[in-house]
Amino acid sequence: MKYLLIFGLTIAVIWLWQGKRRSALTEKARQQKPKTQGRPRQLPTTTEIVACDVCSVHLPRTEALTNGRGVYCSEAHRRQAEG
Ligand SMILES: [Zn+2]
Repeated sequence: MKYLLIFGLTIAVIWLWQGKRRSALTEKARQQKPKTQGRPRQLPTTTEIVACDVCSVHLPRTEALTNGRGVYCSEAHRRQAEG
């Protein structure tokens, strides 16, 4: 009967020790997770705004006609300015 009690206590101690160890491991994993998630935020791409030399309308540089002497909103204004 005495041995049965010691055996039971040993099992209980091992069970408690393993449970503690498991929770410690999950806690460690939880603490390590934010490091991998901490990606640097991407900055929004900026669009340069230019004004047409003829009508002064503002438009993104990607949509403006910049192949002439100035910056124009349309082919008509480029022709009007450059002839
Ligand atoms: Zn224009």
